[in-house]
Amino acid sequence: MIIAVDGPAASGKGTIARALAAHYGLPHLDTGLLYRAVGLNLLQTGGDPESEFAALRACDISQIDFADPELKSETVGGLASRISAYPTVRNALLERQRTFASQPGGAVLDGRDIGTVIAPQAEAKLFVTASPEVRAQRRLAELTRLGLNVHYEDVLADIHARDARDRNREAAPLRPAEDAFLLDTSEMSADEAIAAALAAVESPL
Ligand code: C5P
Repeated sequence: MIIAVDGPAASGKGTIARALAAHYGLPHLDTGLLYRAVGLNLLQTGGDPESEFAALRACDISQIDFADPELKSETVGGLASRISAYPTVRNALLERQRTFASQPGGAVLDGRDIGTVIAPQAEAKLFVTASPEVRAQRRLAELTRLGLNVHYEDVLADIHARDARDRNREAAPLRPAEDAFLLDTSEMSADEAIAAALAAVESPL
């Protein structure tokens, strides 16, 4: 079974995807990490994010350590959001994601375009949302836990900027697949959101 979990930044899709993968014993891929790896590569090699060619060159992420905490930083997230708008970058990362999705037994992938582009054949598709304010609060708590000194207003502004870029780009914009189950987690705890996601997978639309 392939499970596609899409949604905007800090919507809770990663938590839900990991919980579904554990529940069904399926491998899980956080596809945002691939775009973040390209962003980090670009940063480390001094490439210009305004240049699609430089971003494409940074798509050779074989040297990137996926355990590097820098991948989770806001700087790298911002870079990932910018370079992910380039069609050539998306194309360079496509095969790897499709191969992961089509492994025997299935997989859980989370991202922005899993249900629409990477695995439109997925048996279960979830589109996880929450209000920008709730997502900013969650991201703030996460960054504070990591020991970073950040302000709510800055995090909220960043969420709005990322939403606008992800939704308005031409290449694979963030949008729910027609057959996706919409899950608004604004008023839910993590446990409630996971329970709702499991229920949705168990009883497809
Ligand atoms: O999910 P995460 O915040 O780690 O993703 C970082 C950025 O990568 C997002 O803001 C988005 O622009 C991009 N991304 C994407 N398609 C995916 C996953 C992430 O465009 N499937």
